[in-house]
Amino acid sequence: MSAYKSSDASLNPGIDASTRAGMMQRPLLISSLIEHAAKNFGDTEIVSRIVEGNGISVTHRYTYRDANRRAKKLANALKHLGVTKGDRIATLAWNGYRHFEIYYGVSGMGAITHTVNPRLFPEQIAYIINHAEDTFLFVDLTFVPLIETLMPGLESIKGVVVMTDRAHMPFAKIPNLLCYEDLLAAEVDDFEWPLFDESTPSGLCYTSGTTGNPKGVVYTHRSTICHTYAAMSPDAFCLDSRQVVLPVVPMFHVNAWGTPFMCPAAGCKIVFPGAALDGASLYQLFEQEGVTLSAGVPTVWLGLLNYMKTHHLKFSTFKETVVGGSACPPAMIESFERDFDVTVIHAWGMTELSPLGSMNRLRTKHLQLSIGEQLAIKAKQGTPIFGLELEIMNADGKPLPHDGLAFGDLMARGPWVVEHYFKEEMSPLRDGWFPTGDVATIDADGYMQITDRSKDVIKSGGEWISSIELENIAMAHPAVLEAAVIGVAHPKWDERPLLVVVKKPGVTVDAEELLNFYDGKIAKWMRPDAAAFVLQLPHTATGKLLKTKLREDFKSYKLPDA
Ligand code: AMP
Repeated sequence: MSAYKSSDASLNPGIDASTRAGMMQRPLLISSLIEHAAKNFGDTEIVSRIVEGNGISVTHRYTYRDANRRAKKLANALKHLGVTKGDRIATLAWNGYRHFEIYYGVSGMGAITHTVNPRLFPEQIAYIINHAEDTFLFVDLTFVPLIETLMPGLESIKGVVVMTDRAHMPFAKIPNLLCYEDLLAAEVDDFEWPLFDESTPSGLCYTSGTTGNPKGVVYTHRSTICHTYAAMSPDAFCLDSRQVVLPVVPMFHVNAWGTPFMCPAAGCKIVFPGAALDGASLYQLFEQEGVTLSAGVPTVWLGLLNYMKTHHLKFSTFKETVVGGSACPPAMIESFERDFDVTVIHAWGMTELSPLGSMNRLRTKHLQLSIGEQLAIKAKQGTPIFGLELEIMNADGKPLPHDGLAFGDLMARGPWVVEHYFKEEMSPLRDGWFPTGDVATIDADGYMQITDRSKDVIKSGGEWISSIELENIAMAHPAVLEAAVIGVAHPKWDERPLLVVVKKPGVTVDAEELLNFYDGKIAKWMRPDAAAFVLQLPHTATGKLLKTKLREDFKSYKLPDA
């Protein structure tokens, strides 16, 4: 094992090395997380729903000790396949124990785990794999047919490993098709995680790319460990070893928001839901495994809450859920807390931020406020987690007041924020800050609130209208299942808001009633000019409203007075 030396002396000009080196320079490495969990929480369970053969759902359970052993076997197997430091290894997989082992086996041995989002268009998947020059591809059984079709166009792939055992190996026209369990069975678990520079790349995720090609963000061991420390801290996820965590957010969407790293650090039991994210399957798993904390996007929670309401169910252990990825409508926060006694922690982040930027927990002074006033705070995206800084700036790059009213471009900086996209020369940074593309306010207590993606803001007569604020109000109407607001061209005002709604099944409501619902809740001029009904709204591969598509669909829509 070689001794690790800090490389960056430039930050300490003129300081003698002997004075500087007062503390150990142990590198921050991902392997330390699983090693820590195996040594100190060796018996703690990792439970996974797997779908193998005939679509029958099976629960697999083992411990951190087992996971560490198998991740080491995998690292040995990768070595024998010829994988070396810096190689990109792709996954197309659900949340499950084998995916977890890949996170550690691949990054732990110095290669890069590239999680590919299977919900992207097939052409985008092929683009991403080729762009990353992935050498091996690990796939769940579900995605074998997809890879079979894409394989002729995947230029760099030397082998495809199906994440299953010999008995379930599929017949597929894929050269060098390997079986995960066979690979592991051939190896010993005698492997010492290597020490190397903490700035070594460990993971790769591509942005969703609603416009243009997706861009790659390369995480390092250091950025991942820094993110882990901050994200598990008390005013963030607040994890400890008594928690049972079920990440609904996929491991292919920005590392399930870092939960596969935070849980071993804190020693939490993990419950991986596999492919079944419908209300019934999730509820059953929450109850069966005693889940206390979860994390996911609003659309998934919508499904679970509707299922629970229809079947008059309550949770017995579930206490807190982190909701992010899109704005969590206040009506959802209220329903979780009032009807199910589950506290919502609203969170904001993005692929470029590993992903966590801010999380929302109330302060002592907020506890005496009315439920309505508390709700108004909880609807915000929260305060930056320690280590990350947020600022709002005008078009000239000047900071704007933190008064909860002024809104501008949201900028971020910190040890887990992107500096360069993968293989791109130009840095996206502006004066050392990463422009997030979101528009936000920040109040005097530091609570940030996203008002829009910059390209979704509705520009009406020189004023800006927040589409998220209008959507949140619509979502509070009892007849509304989902709502989106977009700007539609208007001859006098440039753009005016149009409300597009999916009704709950079996209810009747008309446009006038929905538009009147805005009265008294916002300034009159912000009220949408019209409401249209659709059967479903378009979403991105990560569950966000796909407003580019919606704007396209309504491009020739005529507003009443236009
Ligand atoms: P992604 O990189 O796919 O995770 O997308 C990041 C983007 O999702 C952010 O820049 C925001 O526009 C949006 N987003 C994430 N969390 C929230 C949230 N809590 N409220 C509003 N928008 C959000």
